[in-house]
Amino acid sequence: MTTALVYDPIFMEHRPPKGHPERPQRMEMSIGYLRALNWLERPELVQLTPRAASIDELATVHEREYIQEIEELSQQAAETEAATGVPTSLQAGTDTYVSAKTYEAARKAAGAPLTALDAIMNGEVKNAYCLVRPPGHHAVAEAGFGFCIFNNVAIAARYALDRYELERVMIIDYDVHHGNGTQETFYDDPRVLYFSIHQAPFFPGTGLSDERGEGDAVGTTINVPLPAGSGYEIYEPIFRQVLAPAADRFNPQLILVSAGYDAHWKEAEGHTGVQPGMRISTAGFSKLNEIILKLADTLCEGRLIMVQEGGYDLDVVASGVATSLNQLLGGTEAVDKYGQAPDIAFQLNTDVVISELRRIHQLTGYRMRNQPKPDREKLLREMKGPVITKTPATSQSSDDASDTCCQNEE
Ligand SMILES: [Zn+2]
Repeated sequence: MTTALVYDPIFMEHRPPKGHPERPQRMEMSIGYLRALNWLERPELVQLTPRAASIDELATVHEREYIQEIEELSQQAAETEAATGVPTSLQAGTDTYVSAKTYEAARKAAGAPLTALDAIMNGEVKNAYCLVRPPGHHAVAEAGFGFCIFNNVAIAARYALDRYELERVMIIDYDVHHGNGTQETFYDDPRVLYFSIHQAPFFPGTGLSDERGEGDAVGTTINVPLPAGSGYEIYEPIFRQVLAPAADRFNPQLILVSAGYDAHWKEAEGHTGVQPGMRISTAGFSKLNEIILKLADTLCEGRLIMVQEGGYDLDVVASGVATSLNQLLGGTEAVDKYGQAPDIAFQLNTDVVISELRRIHQLTGYRMRNQPKPDREKLLREMKGPVITKTPATSQSSDDASDTCCQNEE
């Protein structure tokens, strides 16, 4: 089976003001890495051009007035630019900007996972990476927010439910920021399990562990807020002991990933300006991806779509994209320019965090469906201590052999 890379050069035409961290070079560098590695030529890779999401598809998540506002702001920016000859971007929300081509780019960014899902559901590819911008997970129904225009992942989940009549979609969001827009969209929708692991306290301030959905959907929002300084050694057991059993219990038919690499240790030195930030390395992301890929294989026939969110150090984002794409294609090695995070003085009792999360989400004692039942006899034997094998010279009759496990004197 094959993997789709869904990308369009229009994603470089969304232009926030100069100096903004969410810049076109993020795409340029990512594609540059893939070219340099010769990975765009891999025979099992299918390159797909995204279609634009229709207004109706955008409106499954966003208010129509807001969609129209983005279109009008783009036109205004284009007109100003034509009149003055100066690159123009207009503010559309907190730290969110619209340039002449933003509306077109944002509609294709939202369309990319739809194109990917069509290809997966038609049996054309097994999984997909959507290399898109502007990103999406902060955008809410009525506004753009935190660099995001349309909520690409949320629109894709709605499309999977509406167009393909799926009943259970899971979204895993490991961007360092909480995906407030995605959470808000599905907060009362039990058909979508939203799992977010993020730095806290941090932008945008939402994503406390007791935010877990409402009405029928209580339990289908899972938030893992972690302090700055958390690294792979914290993320990994949480993925295994909280994410995996929650996914197993929910039993999704499709997994979407909000793939932001801004929890990378190198990012803390860049745009966030917070010391310290998170401490994941690219190799760490690849190990987390391994867990996600295995869940997709076990639970939903490998149906997995990764959608680009944050990551602002150009080499971090390009390494993350290349590594994730390689893994979707079945490869194992990480493209890791920066290596391991430097050691810092940091301590967190992960066992306590995990047992609290498992308690909140009623996962205490949950056994994965595919996990073999414990061998009771073996456990009992182990409780009694090791079996002592006697040499032939001292062995007793075979009748006594069953008691040897208790004869520890010799
Ligand atoms: Zn982010």
